[in-house]
Amino acid sequence: MSNRAPVPFVDLGAQLSQIRPDIDAAIAGVLERGDYILGASVERFEEEFAAYCQTRFAVGVDSGTSGLELALTACGVGAGHEVITAANTFIATALAISHAGARPVLVDLAPGTFNMDPAAVERAITPDTRAIVPVHLYGYPADMAPLMEIARRHGLAVVEDASQAHGARYGGNRVGTFGDAAAFSLYPAKNLGALGDAGVVVTNDPDIADALRLARNYGSPVKYHHVSKGHNRRLDTLQAAVLRVKLPYLDDWNRRRRANAAAYNRLLGDSEGVLAPPGDGVGAEAVYHLYVIRCEQRDRLQRHLSNEGISTVIHYPVPIHLQPAYADLGHSRGDFPIAEQYAREVLSLPMYPELAEAGIERVAAAIERFPANLRSMSYTVPAVI
Ligand SMILES: *Cc1c(COP(=O)(O)O)cnc(C)c1O
Repeated sequence: MSNRAPVPFVDLGAQLSQIRPDIDAAIAGVLERGDYILGASVERFEEEFAAYCQTRFAVGVDSGTSGLELALTACGVGAGHEVITAANTFIATALAISHAGARPVLVDLAPGTFNMDPAAVERAITPDTRAIVPVHLYGYPADMAPLMEIARRHGLAVVEDASQAHGARYGGNRVGTFGDAAAFSLYPAKNLGALGDAGVVVTNDPDIADALRLARNYGSPVKYHHVSKGHNRRLDTLQAAVLRVKLPYLDDWNRRRRANAAAYNRLLGDSEGVLAPPGDGVGAEAVYHLYVIRCEQRDRLQRHLSNEGISTVIHYPVPIHLQPAYADLGHSRGDFPIAEQYAREVLSLPMYPELAEAGIERVAAAIERFPANLRSMSYTVPAVI
């Protein structure tokens, strides 16, 4: 790669070109069978994804947002309940809680991590609390041991939002295996992505799996017989066929993401005013859906990188409690100081399995050219654990 070649943020084409003949054959197979709705590939993918996660069941749905909502409902969450989640997550986590009829109760991050603070979760519990939704943000497992202990002690359900963490491990087990259920988005750019919207929920509980199968399919156990007011939220057979081709590559793709993160860490380690992301955490293995640095002069750094041909993204510029959509929660600036600080400072660098070392070197070299007088820093929380 020449040192002027643009570096895209993600490159879905690079992944597709490796497996294109198999994708084409999988799509052709569905066209031949014509089983577009809840066809054979859906069932096969569900078996294979459950085996991958080492859960008893997986239920395919039409998006990660749907998966979270239906999983919460299947766990008994509804009107009048509160559900605790992270203030710095993608809006879909909160929307799913709202659409399940409950009120999202937000908590701040544990200092030095990108994940919710278990101590803050415990403080947020009220008599109306029904569930906790830990988010494995950016591919980092949330600290599930204390969260599960708190949930057990207070009799709360746990639905993991694993939408950015397919394959990540905590204490040796895959994320998605800790809570009552876990939802994964299979949006195209996720670590495992379809060619459009898709999602999947995993669980070890046969009652939750049954409830999910009903809820995604008009509440219908048998065609034209309806036992509940379900939805139309199924995983498309075509998407399942594509996902079956991709799933065997997921571990290798995640290894490459981890190798790319290690290369960034090595090259950015001494860069003044630019903080590398946290490490894995004890006993955990992150899968780097995103590689997120922090910089006090984040907006200037982003413009500088853009001028150098390097695409970056901010995940996320506005925490949930400051979004107009959640004005009804009654929060104001200052309520979740770490989430707010991170919203000002985080910057996601190019990250995808096929990103070559030369591309990472080019990003790191461009960061080195960021003017030294803009590298001020006054952090009050430890950034690297
Ligand atoms: C992508 C994502 C979702 C939503 O998934 P969709 O498939 O887009 O509905 C939910 N939570 C998090 C953390 C996500 O990154």
